[in-house]
Amino acid sequence: MSRHGSVPVRTAVWSLVSIYYFAHVALLARGQAPDIRGFISIDCGSPPSTTYVDALTGIPYVSDAEFVDTGVSHNVSAEYIDASLPRQYYDLRSFPAGARNCYTARPLTPGTKYLVRATFLHGNYDGLAGLAVFDLYLGVNLWQTVNVSSVSSVFRAEIISVVPDDYVHVCLVGKKGLGTPFISALELRPLADALYPVVANASMSMAVHGRHNLGPDDEYPHDPHDRIWKVLANPRSWVPTNTTAAIRYVVGDQFEVPSAVLQTAATVDDGFSVQFYWDAADSNRALVYFVALHFSEVRALNSSEARICEIYLNNDLWLLKPISPVYLYSSTVFGTVTGKTQYTYRIEPTGNSTLPPILNALEIFVMVPTAERATDGGDVNAIMAIKAKYRIKKNWMGDPCGPKQYLWDGVSCNYAISGPPRIISLNLSSTGLTGEITSVFRNLTALENLDLSLNNLTGSIPESLALLSSLAALDLTGNKFNGSVPENLLKRSQEGSLTLRIEANVGSNNNGSSESDGQPQGTKRNRNTAVIVSVVVVVVILVVVAVLIVTVCLCRRRTENDPSVRPLNGSNSKEENDDAVSLQFDTRQFTYKELKTITNSFEKSIGKGGFGVVYLGYLEDGTPVAVKTRSESSSQGVNEFLGEALHLIRVHHRNLVNLVGHCKDGQHSALIYEYMSEGTLQEKLREKSPDFVPLSWRQRLRISLDSAQGLEYLHKACKPPLIHRDVKTANILLNGSNLEAKIADFGLSKAFNNDLQSHVSTRVVGTPGYLDPEYYTSFQLSEKSDVYSFGIVLLEVVTGQPPILPESVHIVQWARQRLAKGDIESVVDGNMQGRYDLNSVWKVADLALRCMEQASSQRPAMADVVVQLKESLELEEGCEKVQSSYAYAGSGDMYAESGDARSQSTNSGMALDFVSGPAAR
Ligand code: ATP
Repeated sequence: MSRHGSVPVRTAVWSLVSIYYFAHVALLARGQAPDIRGFISIDCGSPPSTTYVDALTGIPYVSDAEFVDTGVSHNVSAEYIDASLPRQYYDLRSFPAGARNCYTARPLTPGTKYLVRATFLHGNYDGLAGLAVFDLYLGVNLWQTVNVSSVSSVFRAEIISVVPDDYVHVCLVGKKGLGTPFISALELRPLADALYPVVANASMSMAVHGRHNLGPDDEYPHDPHDRIWKVLANPRSWVPTNTTAAIRYVVGDQFEVPSAVLQTAATVDDGFSVQFYWDAADSNRALVYFVALHFSEVRALNSSEARICEIYLNNDLWLLKPISPVYLYSSTVFGTVTGKTQYTYRIEPTGNSTLPPILNALEIFVMVPTAERATDGGDVNAIMAIKAKYRIKKNWMGDPCGPKQYLWDGVSCNYAISGPPRIISLNLSSTGLTGEITSVFRNLTALENLDLSLNNLTGSIPESLALLSSLAALDLTGNKFNGSVPENLLKRSQEGSLTLRIEANVGSNNNGSSESDGQPQGTKRNRNTAVIVSVVVVVVILVVVAVLIVTVCLCRRRTENDPSVRPLNGSNSKEENDDAVSLQFDTRQFTYKELKTITNSFEKSIGKGGFGVVYLGYLEDGTPVAVKTRSESSSQGVNEFLGEALHLIRVHHRNLVNLVGHCKDGQHSALIYEYMSEGTLQEKLREKSPDFVPLSWRQRLRISLDSAQGLEYLHKACKPPLIHRDVKTANILLNGSNLEAKIADFGLSKAFNNDLQSHVSTRVVGTPGYLDPEYYTSFQLSEKSDVYSFGIVLLEVVTGQPPILPESVHIVQWARQRLAKGDIESVVDGNMQGRYDLNSVWKVADLALRCMEQASSQRPAMADVVVQLKESLELEEGCEKVQSSYAYAGSGDMYAESGDARSQSTNSGMALDFVSGPAAR
């Protein structure tokens, strides 16, 4: 019978487990503790403090009252309730108000993989048969769109995901005019790491598209992971087969399909093949499906019998080798597929097979990128505690910072690329807060602005607020505090690091009675405090302004005396001067004669740049070098040329081209570098030679990461920091067989002193197509200008296109238009022939666009870019590992994503159609 069927006879062990559950349910504190296996099972809409054990599975369920703040409970209409309907579907919770309504499921084990299942049975609860379409979010990531298209059917959404925190938010977001969101049950089941390893971390999850038991009867099998294996109706010419013997899986099995599921199987009549297919709507072609076919031989074959199968996908061999299922052992063939409008699988017997093909069970998932990061767990716990303490209602549900359109009222967040969003501002002014200030505020460690004004807060101002090191503004006006302002807060206010407002505090009376001049003592004391604080604040502001003026003057003087920010010609003029050169280098000095020797009279030119020709040379010990000469006709000055060396001698990093020496011999000047044998990234992306081997996505990621690290070093680790000013693919050089990337060409690099300035004013710089648009209005470059140019580099890496496309279209404009439509495949470099993890490509394309934000303040720092690229590389390497560990699957297809398409994935696993058809042979 199905899971909706009547209570089956239980085994003795199962009954014992049930007894435990009954006892456990009785012990549940406020219905929130997970059960013995870590299961959390929530019956949505049931009366508060409801607890019971499901009659079929023996799993304890609790009311949702402790998991959600909003919504309305309803019962389904009596006509939809029968003995086979699990109790959790008798009622539901609907959400007629609020854009987003969320459950907070906890406690979970952070970093654990969970199967999360949401179930929906409308059952005409509203008497209007009002169907609904709404979005379901797991944390801050869209999980799928739920389309409840019938009042009588049970719809399910199930996702396997790694949960980073000890809680997870499941949110329902209504769609205008498409009915009221509701939910009947929410279930969470922890899974061992080894299960479904394709879900390796929180950035990639998978939603069930179909999970099927190909068995002739419909008994709901006992699955320790509480998966639901839907039974398919037998198509014509299907020959059911089964065994009563237990089927095992070997240690380390990645699917742990229950024996009861594998004991039944489908075979076909002679001359037929087992076939099934599902359609991907056109817009869904970018979806990536993960397909797992589960086999086991259920018949003891004699020596003359053989069951050998080949698996085809859309007429192509999906599995390179034939398989022969093992008697009473489980084996699984799995892999990812994408890009097709219809997926038709065919399992056929090979020529030497004496028995027809077999299939015992199958699972199909849609890969769901869940890389959007939720708010920092510490911040969430703190704000949840604040919410509970002051019983704050507002729209405080789900993640406080994300998605941005559902940001909590009164909360502002910082969305740094390198970490999770942080709460930086909290405005609880006029919120009716009562009682004391909770010490939990100090756990919002990134808080810069806290406004608790115009409430009824009492007691003393806690000293712990001074521990919030980033706090720059604290407004406590209009409350009823008593006592004095803590010394540390006062000190920070006096030092100018904190703007403290505390006026109009009508203090509650300490002893409750004493009055001296007709006013409560507390009031008087607080007024005095307010006056003192106001005076102190004014004095502090004056002192701070004075100190700032003195500091700026001193700094200016220091800057003028600092050789590292002095113009190269040693004069105070901002313009560089070709004459009057006197540079001191620590590197090896070459004579012109030596240059001639090492280059064999400038025999082999390896490139030409703005300064002149670059030659290949060999040092005495055979080390190859690149000799960059400055031609007489060069438009660029000797100082600019040798200035590059000045920067290079104090810059040493694995991802920056190393300077070996220089030459300043009469009219001849040259710079000698380590030789980068593989040329430039630009050539590698767009070389036209016949033996051109395109870079793989992984190589592209590695090169991008190397280059980003080089730039990060220039910006942050160099003393003083440097802006490169000419970041482009032609200035990224590659070395050796592993294509290690290094940043070259520091001819234009400029020093800037971080303490005093974050930009330099300069004359014309950079290369067309790469130049920061802000430069055209401000004529100033900052490290964020390098970030902009690096964004172009990243887009070139993804697309293989030059910054200026034919017809003078800029690559940013071209890519932005396509990416905005979710159409990544039309921008990705065709040379990669689809061999990449689409999710990883998306991430990089998105990063590129963020680097190219119009306002430089919106762009990430290079350190953030490095972190993002590392994550993308890990994602790609993780996928490669999974791909190479596939037992059989040879599709080679990788993940893809599409927000729209993903949302159309099935709710119920019913999108799969099974057919049996004549074998192709
Ligand atoms: P510009 O200086 O005008 O920005 P550029 O950066 O292309 O142009 P160069 O740095 O002079 O000019 O380099 C010219 C070419 O010489 C490069 O494109 C590259 O092919 C080659 N080259 C430069 N340095 C090296 C090196 N260290 N190893 C190998 N090849 C190099």
